Amino acid sequence: MTTLQAASAKSLGSLEVGSIGQTVGQSTVPDPVFSCQDVNVRYGSKHALRNVTLDVGRRQVLAMIGPSGCGKSTFLRCLNRMNDTIAGAAVTGRILLDGQDIHGPGQDVVRLRARVGMVFQKPNPFPKSIYDNVAYGPRLHGLTRSRSDLDELVCTSLQRAGLWNEVKDRLKHAGTGLSGGQQQRLCIARTIAVQPEVILMDEPCSALDPVATARIEDLIDELKELYAIVIVTHSMHQAARVSQRTAYFHLGALVEVGETDRIFTNPRHRLTEAYITGRFG
Ligand code: ADP
Repeated sequence: MTTLQAASAKSLGSLEVGSIGQTVGQSTVPDPVFSCQDVNVRYGSKHALRNVTLDVGRRQVLAMIGPSGCGKSTFLRCLNRMNDTIAGAAVTGRILLDGQDIHGPGQDVVRLRARVGMVFQKPNPFPKSIYDNVAYGPRLHGLTRSRSDLDELVCTSLQRAGLWNEVKDRLKHAGTGLSGGQQQRLCIARTIAVQPEVILMDEPCSALDPVATARIEDLIDELKELYAIVIVTHSMHQAARVSQRTAYFHLGALVEVGETDRIFTNPRHRLTEAYITGRFG
């Protein structure tokens, strides 16, 4: 009996991590923006991420799916060293951004988090004006030399986030006064303003209504022309709609990864199949 057959012979819900085996599918891509090798994360005694090896491709969307608690957000936080901010979290393995180890000596974490921006589940605009929300990062990183340069960057970022037409006449108004969907697009504009290479999104639509969700999904489709995007989503429909590659996690392990169309039409691992057909999860 193979490992996979042994896995499927058991109750899917009670699988041991040891029965999951090697990642199925192609975890590497040519010329990756991120190359992650044997990444492990522990929170104290909790082994939350196990030997994850996974590349992130340029100008495409990678969706991470899997049951709650399987390590998707933990992996996402590895990519811009957000786990550093969690007491007791220990990350091992190699994570290369454009070939450079993000844990290497002399790495500037503030700069890293500008290159690898993050959008959270709940929109979190600063208690500042719409303009100042977007201008915050460029000011912090000294990205512009004059007020007109900054104005232009704020305008471009809001345009790319699909928000400009809705806010151009009220840039001095509070960002927190916008609707939930607009706030999330403002947060995306704030991320874009510091000229990232990668945008991480942790369930960016889970607090939004269907119309606002559709707007963000359209935006993700446009943004992938310029940035690599890694999105954690609980919605398999969303993963299927927005991503080109999908990674399926279970109990901290990367079970399967591949082209999104293939994962959803022809999953190779029994666990992936069980999850996407709704047999557990
Ligand atoms: P997912 O995003 O797939 O829901 P997470 O990455 O949030 O999963 O969590 C993976 C595992 O790590 C879970 O068992 C969770 O309880 C644990 N975990 C996540 N964050 C912390 C933390 N800050 N401290 C301790 N354990 C954590």
